[in-house]
Amino acid sequence: MNRESDVLILGAGAIGLCCAYYLLKSGHSVTLLDQSTPGSGSSYGNCGTITPSHAPPLAKPGMVGQALRWMLDPSAPFYVKPRLDPALFAWLLGFARRCTWPAFEHGLRAKAALLNPSRYAIERMCREEQLQCEFSTAGHLTVFKSAEAMDAFAWWPRALAQVGIGVVELDRTQMRAREPALRDDVIGGFDTPDDAQFRPDLFVAELLRCVLAKGARIEPHFSVENLVFAGHRWRAIGTNGERLGRAAVLALGAWSPKLGRQLGLRVPIQPGKGYSITTERPDLAPKVPVVCRERSIAITPWESTYRIGSTMEFAGYDSTLNRRRLDALVTGAREYLVDPIGQTRIEEWYGWRPMSMDDVPIIGPAPGHEGLWLATGHGMLGMSMSASTGQLIDDLISHRTPSIDPAPYDPARFA
Ligand SMILES: Cc1cc2nc3c(=O)[nH]c(=O)nc-3n(C[C@H](O)[C@H](O)[C@H](O)COP(=O)(O)OP(=O)(O)OC[C@H]3O[C@@H](n4cnc5c(N)ncnc54)[C@H](O)[C@@H]3O)c2cc1C
Repeated sequence: MNRESDVLILGAGAIGLCCAYYLLKSGHSVTLLDQSTPGSGSSYGNCGTITPSHAPPLAKPGMVGQALRWMLDPSAPFYVKPRLDPALFAWLLGFARRCTWPAFEHGLRAKAALLNPSRYAIERMCREEQLQCEFSTAGHLTVFKSAEAMDAFAWWPRALAQVGIGVVELDRTQMRAREPALRDDVIGGFDTPDDAQFRPDLFVAELLRCVLAKGARIEPHFSVENLVFAGHRWRAIGTNGERLGRAAVLALGAWSPKLGRQLGLRVPIQPGKGYSITTERPDLAPKVPVVCRERSIAITPWESTYRIGSTMEFAGYDSTLNRRRLDALVTGAREYLVDPIGQTRIEEWYGWRPMSMDDVPIIGPAPGHEGLWLATGHGMLGMSMSASTGQLIDDLISHRTPSIDPAPYDPARFA
């Protein structure tokens, strides 16, 4: 069966679903294809924070040295599995080259330009479509145990101020008043009151319901194995036959380079594996999401459940759950919280973040391929940037002047 839509969207994670949402609102017909069930990739078990405050890119002077030191510590939040992989080597080299202040400033502005409007677009979407995903706007805390580490983080509020993101510094007493679930030896940190949160699995499930109601066609368990342009149409060829679209959006998250390679496209993304543990709420759960800075551990409390997540493992498409890394999440949380984890463990999970080489998303026309668009490479912030990405893709495909300057995300920067 050769069904044809205006737009074929490959990948039904938060990014593909948000692209579908805005394209449908502009009157396009849309088919979403996913190799598995929609929302079952990285968009499922992540920490669900919507954080413009995380705009500063990873590529920053000093990052290479920090990464090398982490490599020597088996419970550290960062790990590269040593192996002969030319794509990984090229990615690491490209990343290292971007650890300069000019590249950092560029990445900061590019990410903030997506994150700031996305935060409010997500809130609007949740309200207008009545998405039941425990969306809330209580802010976000970044906390420290050592004065030395907090001093070394002084660049962070300065960077955020440059892109209009408010930060309030809190000392030990103020932090304790803001968040009583923290231990006495937490020395203070930063409050970013404009940050928000939702349950990511509920967000994607509700968004799926919403786009279906707006007329989207969804085909789960359709693994796209090839994409060809013939007769002015894109043909997605996969396990269940062929689907046609006048345009196609590649929103395959960490899997994007695989199809990109077949099309001769350079999509420098590595899967950055992260883990999470979901439990019932501890008795003394924090009121707001917390990042435990020295351990790089993120904790998100929701009305219904509670999650600890972290780590960045470059181990290729490795699908094992590493017990040592999962245990390190709990050990780390214990250093900051009075009651670090709920009694009943609901789920242990890993996901592959789509890490682009410059930690800036790749959004825009695929070089040399008319009618093919990329919406990928959102790294650690795909949930937060999902709405803006959908709006930008819709603006571009609908031939409207985009409200966000697309230049920094142009896939051609890697061509
Ligand atoms: C531990 C952890 C914590 C995180 N916390 C946060 C957070 O707090 N806030 C935040 O903003 N972000 C967070 N992230 C990052 C966020 O999860 C990702 O950036 C985001 O989910 C990427 O969305 P996506 O739609 O691009 O990818 P995905 O959700 O992975 O979707 C890609 C889809 O493509 C499908 N697919 C792949 N190949 C094919 C094929 N050949 N044919 C058809 N379909 C295919 C997959 O099945 C999948 O459904 C976190 C990530 C991790 C791992």
